[in-house]
Amino acid sequence: MGLVAELLALAFPPACAACGELLERDTPFCPPCALATEPVPLPGCGRCGEPVEETGPCGRCRTRPPPFSAAHAAFVHTGPLARGIHRFKYEGHSGLALPLARALAAEAGPWLRALEHRAPAPVLVPVPLHRGRLLRRGYDQAALLTRALARTTGLPLETGLLRRIRATRRQVGLTEAERTENLHGAFAVTGPPPDLPVLLVDDVLTTGATARAASGALRAAGARRVYVLTLARAVGEANPGRFGL
Ligand SMILES: [Zn+2]
Ligand SMILES: [Zn+2]
Repeated sequence: MGLVAELLALAFPPACAACGELLERDTPFCPPCALATEPVPLPGCGRCGEPVEETGPCGRCRTRPPPFSAAHAAFVHTGPLARGIHRFKYEGHSGLALPLARALAAEAGPWLRALEHRAPAPVLVPVPLHRGRLLRRGYDQAALLTRALARTTGLPLETGLLRRIRATRRQVGLTEAERTENLHGAFAVTGPPPDLPVLLVDDVLTTGATARAASGALRAAGARRVYVLTLARAVGEANPGRFGL
């Protein structure tokens, strides 16, 4: 462990990313939460990461190719992790950002390294909240998560590049077409995107409508490559869409 990592470990002792319990060892989850946390089954669609049987792109990506090059989600949105994300997002537990980012970095490590092999290291960009919601919630959970991920991985961070310029309805309960409509024109890019690939970071990927809208705005502004990384993904019946974005 380097000096910075040691100091960080002292200042922020490892905590379970799902229940927040302090841990003796530097693992992402406490043993009971680890048992009930599922990594997304592989292989999935090469484009959006949806766990599908067939090789190559899934049906959705074949009919409507997404503006992002590839998306990866660390865990299935279920069990203790889904409850942890809910507490992080809606119940004021902003301190879960670091344990969640550590869990994300640990699981997504191979995917991130493969990405860095193919192209220069990406810049992390959070999928932003609208100002109104930020004022009500008091913090932007995706920004906190992305900041913590940058600290954990050493990847560069760009927080002001993407803005949500239109308040949108909560996505929960909307169909895929309604989600797309709801997010139309919701994002704006504030300046020229960096010359490096952009890695969008968010908490949950459900239908991918948010990821598509945000990466579409970045691509339209000139970003050459956009990737998407989320903590969790809704998979089949494991997700009733209750907590989804
Ligand atoms: Zn736990
Ligand atoms: Zn797909």
